Amino acid sequence: MRKIKYLIFASAIWGIVIGRNLACLAAEIPLVKVAKTNGLQMLSADSFGTKGAAFIFKDNSRVFTFKKILMPLGFPVVKRYGRYYIDSSDYKYHIQPLLPNTKHRRKKLKIIALDAGHGGEDNGATAPWNKLQEKFLTMDVCLRLAKLLEKSGYRVVLTRSQDKKIPLPERTQIANRAKADLFISIHFNSAPSTSASGIETFTLTPSTQASSYQSSSRNIRRNFIGNTFDGLNIVLGYCLQSSLTERTLGIDRGVRHSTFVVLRDLKCPGILVECGFLSNREECQKITSSAYRDVLAQSIFDGIVKFDSLLSD
Ligand SMILES: [Zn+2]
Repeated sequence: MRKIKYLIFASAIWGIVIGRNLACLAAEIPLVKVAKTNGLQMLSADSFGTKGAAFIFKDNSRVFTFKKILMPLGFPVVKRYGRYYIDSSDYKYHIQPLLPNTKHRRKKLKIIALDAGHGGEDNGATAPWNKLQEKFLTMDVCLRLAKLLEKSGYRVVLTRSQDKKIPLPERTQIANRAKADLFISIHFNSAPSTSASGIETFTLTPSTQASSYQSSSRNIRRNFIGNTFDGLNIVLGYCLQSSLTERTLGIDRGVRHSTFVVLRDLKCPGILVECGFLSNREECQKITSSAYRDVLAQSIFDGIVKFDSLLSD
């Protein structure tokens, strides 16, 4: 009887161990398979695509590059017996949307909501060098961008047009009530280290994944309305990040993921852009110039147009 009990116990434990391993294997896809299924060439064991549009991975890293732009993943890439594997959710959210043959079935953009970060008693970051406040800079870039968009036939909705504090959930609701097709939140960055510089964009963290700054364990947080657009958000993030870094020559800090309140309940694709560090003397000097803020607005505009060109009804 004791022996039978032991056998039942041992087989249950083995069942759990084997089951877990199978579940783990089932959640991983070899890069070779990703390339083959999508008609793309392997360039090396850890990269595929074409020389001009390469997806490059690194063993044990939660970041890959696409056309040289840093794209964080939900889980680290795994190298096993010379082959590289990615998590199936990473394929779904981060790779597949960027593949050249992927069709994005969504109506073309008409109404674009622009969100000037901060306002009123919330100044945002302040440049230590010249006391410039983020809330005025975000408004300035939004107005420049609005002009460019309206000239091209888009309708623009501003979440604020004055120096006024608007609660974060209200900004999302303004975009939703206007039935916006796209939401762009504009910010400037600040860091304790004055050497930090460059451009970063944030999408809502994809379903079941951890944000860029968290560990990559399975995240069981609730899904937000904005998670409906996980794949499109990544494409939007890539379009804006590549356009901004190309034109400004700023350091590429990647298309990161966070559960920022303004992005959570959006009923359209959305993104938050950090257009440079006010805490970095050189970058702050550039941002102070209105000609440079024109470049920022033009880059975001180009990114939006690029994103729009990828959509088909
Ligand atoms: Zn900000």
